[in-house]
Amino acid sequence: TKFEALGLNDALLNAIKDMGFESPSEVQEKAIPILLENESDLVALAQTGTGKTAAFGFPLIQKLDVNSRTTQGLILSPTRELCLQITTEMQAYSKYVKGLSTVAIYGGASITEQARQIKRGAQIVVATPGRMKDMIGRGLVDISKIDYCILDEADEMLNMGFYEDIKDILSNTPQDKSTWLFSATMPKEVSVIAKKFMHNPTEITV
Ligand code: AMP
Repeated sequence: TKFEALGLNDALLNAIKDMGFESPSEVQEKAIPILLENESDLVALAQTGTGKTAAFGFPLIQKLDVNSRTTQGLILSPTRELCLQITTEMQAYSKYVKGLSTVAIYGGASITEQARQIKRGAQIVVATPGRMKDMIGRGLVDISKIDYCILDEADEMLNMGFYEDIKDILSNTPQDKSTWLFSATMPKEVSVIAKKFMHNPTEITV
């Protein structure tokens, strides 16, 4: 299969060409058509290094409304490093999408500067749960109108004790959003999240 067959638009196909990706990885081949074609929730069992960032990143970028500066997609990830890595990747994927802004929110850095970036308007916010909860509490970020919520490395986030923060963050999001959960393993805690916060998710395994 080629990327062209997955339904991606020219802006993404051109960025993919620039990055030198020749063909979709297994998780991309399975997830991208599902995420592009319907608004259903998704549970994907996939290890790191399988190309999962693009598996949720390409559909997210394609589905967003760049004519609005409202935050539409929230990506939660366990660590500052991963948060920055996802942000860099999203920026590379969206290099030909004019007006699309991705901002990283994580602990151990200036909250004022992060708030300033959010205020300028970011359709995509990539965040660690602790700092995200903090910024919601201070009214520095608004996720009440998001359409897409991605839980990346859900098992890691739960291992690190972020269950309550995630619950809190999700309670600030609309009911009718789509939730895409990615996890390397499926322990009971992850199934609990999927059951509690997701509606009839499509499941894929790679
Ligand atoms: P990830 O699993 O999302 O952390 O991706 C692992 C690495 O593979 C990243 O450096 C990506 O840029 C790269 N990558 C993702 N998809 C592809 C692809 N289809 N072909 C080649 N490299 C890829």
